[in-house]
Amino acid sequence: MVRDIATAVAGERAEVKGIMGEGVDPHLYTPTRSDVQLLQAADIVFYVGLLLEGKMSDTLVRIASGGREVYPVTDIMDRSFLLESETYEGLFDPHVWMDVSAWAEAVDAVSAKLGQFDPENAEYYQANAAEYRAQLEELDSYVQRVIGSIPEQQRVLVTAHDAFQYFGRAYGIDVRGIQGLSTESEAGLEDINSLVSFLVQNDIGAVFVETSVADKNVRALIEGAAAQDHEVRIGGELFSDAMGEPGTYRGTYIGMIDHNATVIARALGGEAPAAGLNGNL
Ligand SMILES: [Zn+2]
Repeated sequence: MVRDIATAVAGERAEVKGIMGEGVDPHLYTPTRSDVQLLQAADIVFYVGLLLEGKMSDTLVRIASGGREVYPVTDIMDRSFLLESETYEGLFDPHVWMDVSAWAEAVDAVSAKLGQFDPENAEYYQANAAEYRAQLEELDSYVQRVIGSIPEQQRVLVTAHDAFQYFGRAYGIDVRGIQGLSTESEAGLEDINSLVSFLVQNDIGAVFVETSVADKNVRALIEGAAAQDHEVRIGGELFSDAMGEPGTYRGTYIGMIDHNATVIARALGGEAPAAGLNGNL
């Protein structure tokens, strides 16, 4: 997601490389030796921050103390806007890209940093950022519209891990994750049982799997509900912490969010075109 911003803003004035690819879980990702070499060779490094890349923290600190420009794109966000982690006291929920209008601030962060680093091209970066932000605005209103079209009692999103709290707050949908904020925490039997009761009591018919998280807990939910004669199906696969296949529409930030919103809305009884915002799905 960060790479996408950097690519849009830097345009032809930089070579942009991302470290984590499709289906990679950033909470668990440990940098390889070639990642470290890449970081050391870079002029400027952007990452999400808020401990999303928990196992890269030491490396990023080391690279920064070696004189590199290393910058978390969430630094610009007002702390009062950020959600606090329910699992880890004193920490923030890092999954801010799920709120498109908040993620647009990260675009400004990248544009400002690139402009400081390379002042000659600052205006070029600003213009690219403005163009990308306009696309994000359009995306944001699409998500508002399609999620808002889900009948109110069905507006509940149950997923494998707790990546969608910002999505829920921004677009008015109740969010329940089986695992905590980081995939490092294991879901207990108690968590699964209480979610099963919730599904049965509220007559929720669809839950969602994520591309970067194993789906065994979601399957346990479905079986648990079935044991109580309540049918729950998989509403679709969502991109939570990683985008889709490189070179495809779902392999972009806009494509990933478009996919998620469209799949969620359609599975929960809302109205959304099958091909999504721009007919690209
Ligand atoms: Zn996550």
